[in-house]
Amino acid sequence: MSELRWNPILREWVATATHRMDRPQLPKDWCPFCPGSGRVPDDYDVYIYPNDFPTFRMPPPKPSMEGTGLLQVAPSAGVCDVVLYTPEHDTTLAQLPVSHIVKLVRLWRRRFRELASMPEIHYVFIFENKGEVIGVTMPHPHGQIYAFPYIPPKVQRELDSAQEHYESTGRCLFCDVMEEEKRDRRRVLAEGEGFFVVVPFYARWPFEVHITSLRHMGNIEEFWEEEIQGLARILKFVLLKYNNLYGFSFPYIMVLHQAPTDSRDYPYYHFHIEFYPPYRSRDKLKYLAGCESGAGTFINDSAAEEKAAQLRAVPPHTLEEVD
Ligand code: ZN
Ligand code: ZN
Ligand code: FE
Repeated sequence: MSELRWNPILREWVATATHRMDRPQLPKDWCPFCPGSGRVPDDYDVYIYPNDFPTFRMPPPKPSMEGTGLLQVAPSAGVCDVVLYTPEHDTTLAQLPVSHIVKLVRLWRRRFRELASMPEIHYVFIFENKGEVIGVTMPHPHGQIYAFPYIPPKVQRELDSAQEHYESTGRCLFCDVMEEEKRDRRRVLAEGEGFFVVVPFYARWPFEVHITSLRHMGNIEEFWEEEIQGLARILKFVLLKYNNLYGFSFPYIMVLHQAPTDSRDYPYYHFHIEFYPPYRSRDKLKYLAGCESGAGTFINDSAAEEKAAQLRAVPPHTLEEVD
């Protein structure tokens, strides 16, 4: 059973996907993503693999029941991809050379374009869940792409604020926030190669990091060649800093926030990437507890300025050190 159920109280869709209960949990003896599995090419650099347990698919299955006026049901139309970062099973994105990460950025771009061209797809969501504490079920280095039939609510909220700011000031909200962060400097980790890296003023997670394109643009399709190369280096810069913080491979959620692909124009939206690492210190995890889950307010037990200083203190110190 796989369908969208509408919550009229929170005004959001919940995707039900009961078949996902059957997913393998960290299989030790076999990996479908490794060359030789019969499921992927014997020779690849980076590869799009159709998710075996998709939340969205095309064509979608018929919903299991009919909705009512209030409790609506919709087919879970969309696409779920697994993005294989490398044929090597025992590595991570942070350990790959920048030249290889460039191939990943190109693949994201190509797949974004393909999915964006599908009329049913209103939002292309590229992300990675990394680490067992995040709930990763397959250890092979990979990310995912969910192509949604609607604009997901967190992005919609960003769009609404950006639109309002644009209409009242004529400027981009993301550009304006970036200018304030640049003036302040205390939370900045890097600037260069076409991107700006910061622990945002309003970080929810202690080590939350945002990467924003210096140029005002809505999605990865608008990248110049230098920005493709630059993003690869910037990504590795952030991931190496994370790993060097406590000397272990740092778990995180990474999400790309881009303009929707529903054929409307979003001149006020601005490409950025957000990282949410669950650790708040070497051996303590942050959980989404009552206040976060029940009230929607995050309690961050550290100041973004301190965490930025901590991240600045560990290598790499400059973008040039990363290759
Ligand atoms: Zn593998
Ligand atoms: Zn902007
Ligand atoms: Fe965002």
